[in-house]
Amino acid sequence: MTAYRHPAYRSLPEQVAVFRPAQTVFGASAASVTTSAGETLPLADPRVTVLIPSMGETAAQMLAAVFESEGFSAVAHPAADEAILKLGRAHTACKECLPLILTAGTLIHYVRELRRPGEIVAYFMPTGSGPCRFGQYAVFMEDLIRRLEIPDVAVVSLTSENSYAGTNAFFRLRAWWAAVISDALEDIRSLILVRADDPRRGMDIFAGESRRLVSVLGQKDFRTVLAALEASLGRLAAVPGLDRPHPHLPVVALIGEIFVRRDDLARRHLIEILARRGFAVVCSPVSEWILYTNYLVRKNIVRHHLPTLERLKLLLVERYVGHYTRALRRVLRQSGLGPADPIDIDGILRHARPFLSPHLTGEAILTIGSALSEIATSVCGVISIGPFGCMPGRLAEAILTDAMRSPVKTALTPGNRALKKILADFDELPFLPIESDGSPFPQLLEAKLDAFCLGASRLKEAMAGPQRR
Ligand code: SF4
Repeated sequence: MTAYRHPAYRSLPEQVAVFRPAQTVFGASAASVTTSAGETLPLADPRVTVLIPSMGETAAQMLAAVFESEGFSAVAHPAADEAILKLGRAHTACKECLPLILTAGTLIHYVRELRRPGEIVAYFMPTGSGPCRFGQYAVFMEDLIRRLEIPDVAVVSLTSENSYAGTNAFFRLRAWWAAVISDALEDIRSLILVRADDPRRGMDIFAGESRRLVSVLGQKDFRTVLAALEASLGRLAAVPGLDRPHPHLPVVALIGEIFVRRDDLARRHLIEILARRGFAVVCSPVSEWILYTNYLVRKNIVRHHLPTLERLKLLLVERYVGHYTRALRRVLRQSGLGPADPIDIDGILRHARPFLSPHLTGEAILTIGSALSEIATSVCGVISIGPFGCMPGRLAEAILTDAMRSPVKTALTPGNRALKKILADFDELPFLPIESDGSPFPQLLEAKLDAFCLGASRLKEAMAGPQRR
């Protein structure tokens, strides 16, 4: 009391207001956001916007449509560009992984340029555990918000540990439809670029059909979605150039880190570059990662074991996932534009097993398994792309640089005499690892890409059979 009356204390400056970052609070059945002023609002409140960063524009838009139809207000941020990359670099040490730099730039861009007055933002950040930095993205983003004192922006991650922020199983199933359809569209886009008589006109049609499918994903009835997909695929298959068979079209696989392989800026428009050289690209699907994580739970390989109830729920959802996947894939296959084979996680891991333990979970094992299972079987070359310094990417590159040889491939596919014959004249198989920091590719990489395309063309000729030689 005496100290309080002391003249020195009376002359202290007024206390500066302490910044309070907004926070996502996860309840048993729903998530809410506590604003910087301390008000708590449900995540579905109209003042709260779920902001989804782009990882492939159509995929983000489809996910936003699913959120919207569940009563959330959601926005998919447009794809990252040079300005966003610059913003991200300005607010990071630039030693972070490229996806983190781009998603940081995206958030700052939205808050500065696109946010409405009074809007509370819940930034959607996927998260996960495993032997890399992925689990730290959400932590970094919360720290960035605190450092820059951005009011009313919270980070929201859907994981089993927070009961998927109160979203129901049906929401997750519909997010799955979005993943399967956007995965297919990604490859159709590449087909149009390389096969359409008039690629520009083809891309206009593609953009129109993508918009249609984004809006249909706001519907909850699966039959409506399936019918719309069938109709869109019919119109895309009728694009002049795609309406003729191209049995000898060379196709390469684009595998590697999930964000960079799907983001146009991060992969430096590699799909367009390859299309100009006459190659179509199949990009490893996002749904592959989802199936892989479910596989880990099913086989009890995950480090953090799920509570029994969560595990049972996941297994139940998986059964429905199987049902919907078969229906979507049937329509895709019938159109002649979709993948012919289902995603075979067991097969992918079997191809990787001689090189990496399945207990070292993450993207490296998928990259290795996909490369070895697809080469000379469905594709004539494999490009593995990842951010500069990506740990799983470097691990996969180290192994694949040695393993992408015909004796390894034939040993992994014993008894396949046709394959042995195809690979008789090959030792090294066409494989190109790329690390991207978002900058244009250097000349050396351009030269490596030339050599890769040459090797891939040779393998394609061998795969097409003697009539083509
Ligand atoms: S997978 Fe690679 S890019 Fe992604 S967080 Fe891990 S190290 Fe970074």
